[in-house]
Amino acid sequence: KRKYFLAGRINIIQRSKIRELFEKASKMENVISLGIGEPDFDTPDVIKDAAKRALDEGYTHYTPNAGIPEFREAIAEYYKDFYKVDVEVDNILVTAGAYEATYLAFQSILEQGDDVIIPDPAFVCYVEDAKIAEAGIIRIPLREEYKFRINPDELVEAITKRTRMIVINYPNNPTGAVMNKSTVKAIADIAQDYNIYILSDEPYEHFLYEGAKHYPMIKYAPDNTILANSFSKTFAMTGWRLGFAIAPKQVIRDMIKLHAYVVGNVTSFIQIAGITALRDKRSWEAVETMRRVYDERRKLVLKYLNEMPHIQPFKPKGAFYIWAKIDPELDMSSEDFANWLLDNARVVVIPGTAFGKQGEGWVRISYATEKEKLIEAMERMKEALSKL
Ligand code: PLP
Repeated sequence: KRKYFLAGRINIIQRSKIRELFEKASKMENVISLGIGEPDFDTPDVIKDAAKRALDEGYTHYTPNAGIPEFREAIAEYYKDFYKVDVEVDNILVTAGAYEATYLAFQSILEQGDDVIIPDPAFVCYVEDAKIAEAGIIRIPLREEYKFRINPDELVEAITKRTRMIVINYPNNPTGAVMNKSTVKAIADIAQDYNIYILSDEPYEHFLYEGAKHYPMIKYAPDNTILANSFSKTFAMTGWRLGFAIAPKQVIRDMIKLHAYVVGNVTSFIQIAGITALRDKRSWEAVETMRRVYDERRKLVLKYLNEMPHIQPFKPKGAFYIWAKIDPELDMSSEDFANWLLDNARVVVIPGTAFGKQGEGWVRISYATEKEKLIEAMERMKEALSKL
């Protein structure tokens, strides 16, 4: 007699390769991880104080499924002030991070057998979301010669009769690439011409360097875009699980149906703190401080990597990652290289193949780590690689 009954469909979800490396590292001593995609900063005090106050003020109850209206108004106001984009409260759904917004987009848009276009490399969750939705996955390569931006011609070529959605993510994880206006416009035009949705995942919108700008997709294709965004990276609030989706009203209505039974509503006092995060000048000052620190680290790591043998970084202008090419002469796969680095330098980097086949020959290095540790990690890598 079987004791447990396990649903087979869960097996379609792949265990993240990132976790395997972390597990190996956790059994070793004195390891520096440049693997984590998470701000090392604490949430700004002004936001923490707002959450504490909200608790004392009785924000301990259920909220509307879509989120507290005033919070959704603050999100709409933010898009108006920051990007001059008009969105209404009914276009907004408060979610448990960008993860949930993304999951709901896949579930609401895709029927079994529909195709979704996912760039390669890409953040790990899109492919798994597509599998759960039983959608066909078409990968299009992001190429170094296009600065890891989507090539609109390749996008058009990849579209089939069954394509209903394309995923884009800029500033990009894992490459640190940013978009330019002409490519954003070209993607918007293609989506409108072929009648497909764009799931635009934009949690790194505020981490931009060297004067790079962010062009939110909803500004260019408002009727075709589902925006996933988050407080996780911007305000160093990963554990709070606060994000949102912005989409055409009928899409939001469908997303809410599922959200209501999976999440219910996002924690009430956290939504209240989200209003402060968006409206208080001090929280934006904190964001700018974090951005500057990331930029300093970015320059530091780039300088080191450029001087090291056997590794060649792509110069990122966004997010907090560096995508670096492994010397092909080494004849090592990305996984071999990441394992070798862990064994020989006690530094964790993520093999590029965790993000797709095109990631072969690359690794992702996160600089969301304090400066002293970054320097130590770079010194270790330099020493180990010089011996190769
Ligand atoms: N999208 C991208 C591109 C990410 O890098 C991450 C987190 O690493 C997420 C979404 C998930 O973020 P959240 O904490 O908002 O769910």
